[in-house]
Amino acid sequence: MMGRVTEVLRATGDARRAELAASLTALRDRIAAACAAAGRVSDEVTLIAITKTFPASDVRLLHELGVRDVGENRDQEAAPKAAQCSGLTGLTWHFVGQLQTRKCASVVSYASVVHSVDRPRLVRALAAHARGAGREITCLIQVSLDGDPARGGALPADIPGLAAAVAAEEGLLLGGVMAVAPLGVPPAEAFAVLPEVSAAVRAVRPEAGMVSAGMSGDLEAAIAAGATHVRVGTALLGGRPAVVR
Ligand SMILES: *Cc1c(COP(=O)(O)O)cnc(C)c1O
Repeated sequence: MMGRVTEVLRATGDARRAELAASLTALRDRIAAACAAAGRVSDEVTLIAITKTFPASDVRLLHELGVRDVGENRDQEAAPKAAQCSGLTGLTWHFVGQLQTRKCASVVSYASVVHSVDRPRLVRALAAHARGAGREITCLIQVSLDGDPARGGALPADIPGLAAAVAAEEGLLLGGVMAVAPLGVPPAEAFAVLPEVSAAVRAVRPEAGMVSAGMSGDLEAAIAAGATHVRVGTALLGGRPAVVR
């Protein structure tokens, strides 16, 4: 009986592994083509697999396939998943969603990079918890591309001040910028401000060159605008239930 269950589980795992391997190959080809079109080399762009709504077993399979960067947008889901994957060597967790200060203690316990830093209160909370945990957290300043901070992100005018606030905190490392393309605007148009925003952050710390932009639907436009990190869910893992962001 146990043998049969194990067999079925193994067959299911093998099918999922093959599916993920195929979509990973297609995605790497897409990234390489976008880099070639932009006159860039593809090792300038890091793929972050966004695993929200997908199980820890998928993170394991992606790790077997060579993926080393994974991201989540909700602490409630990310914390237990990261704990289930704690044995995977060399895996970096990225936190990419809007973040409440009361979640910072949990997030700094597993995430090495927080992409959604967009207000001074969050900088102070992340710094305090990073120091408390003896960790160094790389912070990306999230810029709002549609001027509506309700959806997360700081206004471009507030970026230099936030970057300076991060750079001044022990426990935090200023890494660069992050953006999500707004709905209803051509992504190339929205991403066009990224080089300028990135320059403003590098004026504070020259090594802070990370530009996190581009998802399943718009990674080509993001790479053309200088993205160094693309955050891809659907094109790699498949569709998510419509109720989940
Ligand atoms: C879900 C999510 C992604 C991935 O989106 P896909 O369209 O599924 O590739 C990227 N960035 C953030 C902040 C997300 O929440």
